[in-house]
Amino acid sequence: MSFADLWRDLEPLGRDPGTGGYRRYSWTKADTQCRAWFTRQAEKLGLTVEPDNNGNLWAWWGTARENAIVTGSHLDSVPDGGGYDGALGVASALAAVEMLQDQNFYPERAVVLALFTEEEGARFRVPCLGSRLMTGTIDPETARALTDDDGITLAAAMAAAGADASLLGPREDLLQSMAAFVELHVEQGRALAPMGAALGLAERIWPHGRWRLAFSGRADHAGTAAFADRNDPMLPYASTVLAARRAAAERGALATFGKVIAEPGGANGVSSAVTAWLDARAPDEEALAATVTAVRSAAEFSSAEHGVALSVRQESYTPVVRFDQRLRDRIAGVLAAAGVTAPVLPTGAGHDAGVLTARVPAAMLFVRNPTGVSHSPAEHADLADCEDGVRALALVLEDLARLT
Ligand SMILES: [Zn+2]
Repeated sequence: MSFADLWRDLEPLGRDPGTGGYRRYSWTKADTQCRAWFTRQAEKLGLTVEPDNNGNLWAWWGTARENAIVTGSHLDSVPDGGGYDGALGVASALAAVEMLQDQNFYPERAVVLALFTEEEGARFRVPCLGSRLMTGTIDPETARALTDDDGITLAAAMAAAGADASLLGPREDLLQSMAAFVELHVEQGRALAPMGAALGLAERIWPHGRWRLAFSGRADHAGTAAFADRNDPMLPYASTVLAARRAAAERGALATFGKVIAEPGGANGVSSAVTAWLDARAPDEEALAATVTAVRSAAEFSSAEHGVALSVRQESYTPVVRFDQRLRDRIAGVLAAAGVTAPVLPTGAGHDAGVLTARVPAAMLFVRNPTGVSHSPAEHADLADCEDGVRALALVLEDLARLT
């Protein structure tokens, strides 16, 4: 199957007909369909697909369990996400292996395609959960108890999908068997288009994290409660959103409230509670810490002003990640030899490659996103650029899979 055929086959899975966005949440029906699709495609290429204990899938081309070259990404999505985030890396990995097989290339080291679970953290709120579990950067007990918006635990969700959460935990053996991890990903942001480059290489990932802010006030009647008598949590929440924008802009950082729950949620009532999630990212850890501190103090100040109680909890944090320079230079060399220039870019988005790079030399290849829009149905990459990505990935795998 060509990349275009693979893409056509994958495209409908988990897509909401109303919004056109993807709802591929982990351990749901859409997720099961995506896993089955990956398994089917990998098996067509003669690869051996093995689920691990953490919900990730591994498709092996070759049997040697040492110095394996791993590529892949994720198929889960944010709510109403775009079709390319994660999926492009998975489909490209399959297409690259097929391309190498068509060229009668036989890898001297195993080439392994990885499908990571819950990369977006859209359901259980901890991004890169599959790679974090594998590397031991989240405790299995904590992971099992994570809940989704309906209060379903990860353990229960896995059980319902036929997986066993009691086995969650680090996989030293798998990490030891990996010589390198290369993740191809759609560009998130718009740096490549102005440079006229179809492909780019990642330099580092901005430090980033999520914080849950819970504002608790008192429910009241929208028509009878005088302003002076209200403890309306919506007001400190609103000031906090504006303060976050200001605090981040001053420091060259980014801060976003993309999710908010107002309770009880009546249109004619003052809310009793507002829970909101801050996503903050910055070029360095000092700027990130300063941004979050500023948001927190604005929230505290405004909550006190309105007689509202506030609690702030950090739900996830990822320090700055610098990708392996030797691997990046090697990839840049392989691409340059083929006449491909791939500028080196920083990114504000987290990835499994970022988690893995603490243990395994990792690199990322970006495919141009002409509008830069991501985490939205408007996310896009041109077919020609995707095909360039597949060719580049095949060249990289061919080079890395040689025993030199
Ligand atoms: Zn992604």
